[in-house]
Amino acid sequence: MGAAAEAGRLLVINAGSSSLKFKLFAAAPLVAGLGGLIERIGDAANSTLSAKLRLPDGSTQKWEDKTPITNHTTALEKLMRFLGDNVSSSIEQEVAAVGHRIVHGLDIAKAVLLDDAVIKKIEKAAALAPLHNPPGLAGIAAAQKVFGPAVPHVAVFDTAFHQTLPPHAYMYALPMEYYKQHSIRRYGFHGTSHKYLAETAAAMMGRPLGQLNAITCHLGAGSSVTAVERGRSVDTSMGLTPLEGLVMGTRCGDLDPAVPLHIMRTTGVGAAEMDAILNKRSGLLGLCGNNDLRNVIERRAKGDPEAALAMDVFIYRVRKYVGAYTTALNGHVDAIVFSAGIGENSPLVRALVCGELQRLGVIIDAEANAEMVGGRQGFISKPESRVKVLVVPTDEELSIAQQTVGVVFGDMGEQM
Ligand code: ADP
Repeated sequence: MGAAAEAGRLLVINAGSSSLKFKLFAAAPLVAGLGGLIERIGDAANSTLSAKLRLPDGSTQKWEDKTPITNHTTALEKLMRFLGDNVSSSIEQEVAAVGHRIVHGLDIAKAVLLDDAVIKKIEKAAALAPLHNPPGLAGIAAAQKVFGPAVPHVAVFDTAFHQTLPPHAYMYALPMEYYKQHSIRRYGFHGTSHKYLAETAAAMMGRPLGQLNAITCHLGAGSSVTAVERGRSVDTSMGLTPLEGLVMGTRCGDLDPAVPLHIMRTTGVGAAEMDAILNKRSGLLGLCGNNDLRNVIERRAKGDPEAALAMDVFIYRVRKYVGAYTTALNGHVDAIVFSAGIGENSPLVRALVCGELQRLGVIIDAEANAEMVGGRQGFISKPESRVKVLVVPTDEELSIAQQTVGVVFGDMGEQM
């Protein structure tokens, strides 16, 4: 194991504009430790640091500190003091690498060691991910300050797994200058999750990743579907931004591009408001007034027609993508994988998406499907189902930690 055996710990960071999610891992072997969230950064009167740790007996130890936090640097300083008090007094020396979740990496195709050139690229990509890349950069700057130059930092990009999309899948049929001069193309998101789902499904099916064709469905507040061919992403439902594709909690997904133009022309709505309508007031929320699918399902069960319609539109869109990606994979689908808040917890959604697909080789085991909730991982198809259907709880932090180890201690990364 060499260097990795002495690696100590890894810190995984996911910095938002006013929040910072974190998880600490033991590096060799890679084991998750304490994780948590710093919220309301910049609102010193209300900022909090909360954390939890799963203990070996299955119980959970929890912390919640109200503490003034003015920016990402103070957030990380507070976090290191907190870890020093509650995990190890020598935590500063033990953190051997930091993994950063970054949303947009333009054409960067894998996790990379952060240097000036990579930071420049993340800055350039901020034009396409204005809500996500700037806080990611703030998290990087803060961590570099707090840990000093001796600790390596790795950037893991949501877009990286989808860099294998072929041009016919990523090009929009717009005048070429928008691609050439403005980098407008489909990038795809949730890549860290889809990569983890494909790897985990391959391991569960006992085959090398390079021999797996799968349709991975990450269904949460934000949702996307990916077509994985021989372990590589060949198409995905999100595009230039995470707005394209499925119906989501508050996002409309696929839409005739003339619709927003028509609304803007006829109602006088400006670009910023239109953006908010499409991203924050549409989707399930727009259709029925609830963005949480649990509420939609409850209302539907009581006979509420708007909730039933919202559910129908949501399910039909997922089915359309499963059909499209079956064709993208030339009919060779080994597995359909469900994950994230909805995919991991709703047997109803999984049954509706996979229902009546016997002719495509999909046969759900109703009992297994009903049992696979609350973080359980396993198969929900019948043994005779040609296409295996799996539920895999996604673990983006673990994937970021694995990729960070892979970049910093290449020897270990290969084995994971
Ligand atoms: P995020 O994209 O914020 O990470 P999650 O993956 O945590 O979201 O998914 C959150 C969503 O999962 C919630 O909005 C809720 O609609 C949905 N969800 C959670 N549990 C269930 C359930 N039992 N049935 C249906 N939907 C569920």
